[in-house]
Amino acid sequence: MSTQPHTTTPQDRSDDEEPLLSVDDLRTRIRTERETIHAVDGVSFTVNRGETVCLVGESGSGKSVTCESLTGIVPQPPAEIIGGTVEFKGRNLLEASESTLRSIRGTEIAHVFQNPQSALDPVYTVGDQLVEAITIHEEISESDARERASELLRQVGIPNAPTRIDDYPHEFSGGMQQRVAIAIALAADPALLIADEPTTAVDVTVQARLIELLRELTDGGMSVLLITHDLRVAAALADRVLVMFGGTIVERGPIEALYSQPAHPYTRSLFDSYDGLSRRGDRSARGDIPTDGCRFRDECPHAIDACAGGDQPPFYTVDDRKTHGASCLYYGPEHDPAPILHDDAAVNTLIEEPTDD
Ligand code: ADP
Ligand code: MG
Repeated sequence: MSTQPHTTTPQDRSDDEEPLLSVDDLRTRIRTERETIHAVDGVSFTVNRGETVCLVGESGSGKSVTCESLTGIVPQPPAEIIGGTVEFKGRNLLEASESTLRSIRGTEIAHVFQNPQSALDPVYTVGDQLVEAITIHEEISESDARERASELLRQVGIPNAPTRIDDYPHEFSGGMQQRVAIAIALAADPALLIADEPTTAVDVTVQARLIELLRELTDGGMSVLLITHDLRVAAALADRVLVMFGGTIVERGPIEALYSQPAHPYTRSLFDSYDGLSRRGDRSARGDIPTDGCRFRDECPHAIDACAGGDQPPFYTVDDRKTHGASCLYYGPEHDPAPILHDDAAVNTLIEEPTDD
């Protein structure tokens, strides 16, 4: 493995166009009776128009709190957004009023969650809920809205949409409920879809179909911020990947670059321990993570004294790719990353596996 160049990477940007979403130094902490958790601790990234960015990392790394901080849906308290900017279409959402945020949520930025029930009201038919979501942002007659609702159900792959529109959520299977939830999210034609583990609660076959649906939607030009702990889901959908650990992003890059050469020791451990399907335990339950320097250093086989203290290490380029960066001192001018980049076997196995089961 060759020695890497020693420049730091700028905020990743795939072209000159202004990003749709630009997050800078986001910080959200959560106060519990026992402790203060630095759930999001200086997170920066962008999502460009038409791009799918995937936030990966094990349970407890801060993925959900990051995404829920963007539009202020993270429960405050116990959470508190203590710093950063979230620019969406040129406006800082962290300074927006609650009424502005409410009007942006569901129209400009839609959320889909792991559990579709959270988006569905059991006492209304899915048609009524879709019509409501459509008419919130559009001056449209009731009958046109119903027509569009039916079309949305068809688009997300609900068979017999014109009939099923009058059914209640409980009359759908879990996978179909998630499709309905996605249809509701799409009703307002949002510029950004934030999907938090949307395929996690369903079985593998349904998961493959939902991935197919999401792929069609992303091909259609919508921007998507997708959260997953499942590297295979990310492989199927992402243009760019952000790897999160301990409330920080530790590596970022285009999917092909990052998957062919995972660089940060945490990313490498994530790939090495990946068994195809299951998740690792919630690390937050496994003891304290440092809140300065490199958050991974206590578990890193390559840690050196310089990994402790101060800010998170800067993002250094990996293999001369400006858009692929790792927040790890081994990629900086003082060190040689060779000891980290030793074994590509596990990674190659993962990439060669089919993405649909
Ligand atoms: P992920 O989505 O990556 O699994 P989260 O963003 O949900 O992780 O959580 C990040 C950290 O914040 C974890 O340590 C988690 O335990 C903690 N956390 C999240 N929500 C709460 C809450 N409501 N109360 C206490 N701790 C929380
Ligand atoms: Mg989560």
